[in-house]
Amino acid sequence: MTNLRRTGSRLALWTVVLLVPLGMSCQRLPLERQEVLEPSSRSRPSLALWELATRLGLTIGANDSVSVTLRNANDTVLLFTHAGAQFFVNGRAAGYVGPTERRRGVLYLESALVGRIGQQMGRRAVTRPAPYERPRRLGSGKGTIMIDAGHGGKDPGAPGLWGYPEKSVNLSVARQVAARLRDLGYRVMMTRDSDVFVSLEGRWQLANRYRPRLFVSVHADSSPRPAAEGFTLYIAHGASAQSRRAAQCLEDALAGTGRPGRGIRSAGFQVLIHTTCPAVLIEMGYLTHDREARELRDPRVQARLAQAIVAGIECY
Ligand SMILES: [Zn+2]
Repeated sequence: MTNLRRTGSRLALWTVVLLVPLGMSCQRLPLERQEVLEPSSRSRPSLALWELATRLGLTIGANDSVSVTLRNANDTVLLFTHAGAQFFVNGRAAGYVGPTERRRGVLYLESALVGRIGQQMGRRAVTRPAPYERPRRLGSGKGTIMIDAGHGGKDPGAPGLWGYPEKSVNLSVARQVAARLRDLGYRVMMTRDSDVFVSLEGRWQLANRYRPRLFVSVHADSSPRPAAEGFTLYIAHGASAQSRRAAQCLEDALAGTGRPGRGIRSAGFQVLIHTTCPAVLIEMGYLTHDREARELRDPRVQARLAQAIVAGIECY
């Protein structure tokens, strides 16, 4: 990403935004194909937000600089408005927003979004259980947990000693945590589940909108001191008793992985101080420590960490 930013080429960045959701690699595409996909040869986002809402039969609710909520009696759609961000339908990550643009204060999106969102609406009605199944109420059972994989997209987080940036470690562990929790019957939301940039505001606003039972932010640490090692739990200054209990549970569970613990600390991280639900940030270990950096990129170690985080959440 650094190279793209250095060239300052908006088009190059847009190409990535368009290609990443399709799972394609920039290098492998023949040049003419890239040109076809570049927004310069496509029209700019032309669908005004009000038009999108009208076509989907939704009204515009909360609308700020990072996100928009659209709703009707049956469906709630949350769009993050930076290019490459995700949209959520009824609390479920349902796809990517694609290119966005604000012109004279009006948000424009690509018209294909009508179909992409429309497909996901009314899902609860469509997947109404068969006669013999007992209907499962949303949010029932073990409740909702929000997993926040730190950094992503243009923000790599701490650079790994072994060329494996923090954003990748975080995402890999966060995905495993989410999958295991779903197996255990939790409703799980992720602030990102691919390599996209989501602002800090976007993260805590999502938490405050969906009010999960617990918000867990997953990170890996760095230090100018190469000997620094171990995991750390963070909660907000003056955090609630629930946040403290969750941090304690997570600390105990992570201690079982055999790595040194650096305790529960309080900090002014945005995702901790602005979230209204119980929230904990985990620094799983140091990417600047020779051994820990090697471990953190090891899939077996990542699986153990994910298992420990799930055990901590279960305890909470
Ligand atoms: Zn981080």
